[in-house]
Amino acid sequence: MAARKIRTIEELGEFGLIDHLTSGFKLQQNSTRLGVGDDAAVIDHGTFYQVVTTDLLLEGIHFDLVYTPLKHLGYKAVVVNLSDVYAMNAAPRQVTVSLGISGKFSVEALEELYEGVRLACERYRVDLVGGDTSASVTGLVISVTAIGTVRKEEVAFRSGAKRHQLICVSGDLGAAYMGLKILEREKQLHARDPEFQPDLKGYDLVLERFLKPEARVDVLLALKESGIVPGAMIDVSDGLSSDLLHICKASRCGCQIYDDRIPVAEETRKVAEEFNMEPLVAALHGGEDYELLFTVPLSDFDKVSAIPGVHILGNMTEEKEGARLVTGDGRAILLQAQGWNAFGKRE
Ligand code: ADP
Ligand code: MG
Repeated sequence: MAARKIRTIEELGEFGLIDHLTSGFKLQQNSTRLGVGDDAAVIDHGTFYQVVTTDLLLEGIHFDLVYTPLKHLGYKAVVVNLSDVYAMNAAPRQVTVSLGISGKFSVEALEELYEGVRLACERYRVDLVGGDTSASVTGLVISVTAIGTVRKEEVAFRSGAKRHQLICVSGDLGAAYMGLKILEREKQLHARDPEFQPDLKGYDLVLERFLKPEARVDVLLALKESGIVPGAMIDVSDGLSSDLLHICKASRCGCQIYDDRIPVAEETRKVAEEFNMEPLVAALHGGEDYELLFTVPLSDFDKVSAIPGVHILGNMTEEKEGARLVTGDGRAILLQAQGWNAFGKRE
């Protein structure tokens, strides 16, 4: 009898595993406009689309309570889901929040966490409408589901990019990753010497981006006001490289972006230098930026150029051209996905 080959999850990687597990499901409901594979699922409600997205955050994998204030954690858990709703060009309406709680938490600690949840709900005008609560033996677990709505003609899929469209990104990239590096460094120094007092002065921007990110609803409003409907859109959660590749794959296109157009904040550059790291590497592969990456028709060049804080990185190309990063000296490097991969290696 031939031995049955047992595969490890690492062989497939996170996205390979999701494909493998879900590809055998045939959609059975006419109302399911889009299932697995985008920032959110899209459900047809006749006159509009509803979008649904969910994220699971585990202590020790996604957050470290040594340096993460619970209030920030509650805020971030909601915001990262809203970011996925915005990435469909939709407006978030409701969230549910589910918790697995280990014995070490007091009521006061959970109140802190929920203070963050409440702040995010207020800031983004969404309602907390349910959830679930359970004991956990392996640390804190938070799962948030967000629901939103979008006009049918305005929905932005990852698959909506076309050749020649401009590739744009909001804000700047790599800051959250450098914030994480600072917090990890201070944690290690503290572990070696309990007398050591972390000094986090001068790192405000990168720390805030990591601990308390915001979702870019302001960018959607600016696009709307300019009369721009994005072709494809995704939020940058895994790193520019990985997330742009998602758009290319879903849209069956190639892309060409220029390294000197990738926005990196001055503070991010400085912190990267402290770690002897190329700032561009943080921007390409860092992740957790929650900026919006989108394409717009070439004819919208003037309009999109006029929106403050939106950067044009390059353009979509034919699929056979591949996904390319053009460097200052004119070389083209193939983009690779090295972003966050829950089952692979981070760096
Ligand atoms: P994002 O980074 O935008 O949150 P993910 O990379 O987590 O998206 O997920 C990619 C796609 O795979 C999404 O459509 C998500 O709903 C789907 N997905 C992830 N895990 C599972 C799973 N275990 N079963 C079914 N679908 C999943
Ligand atoms: Mg996303």
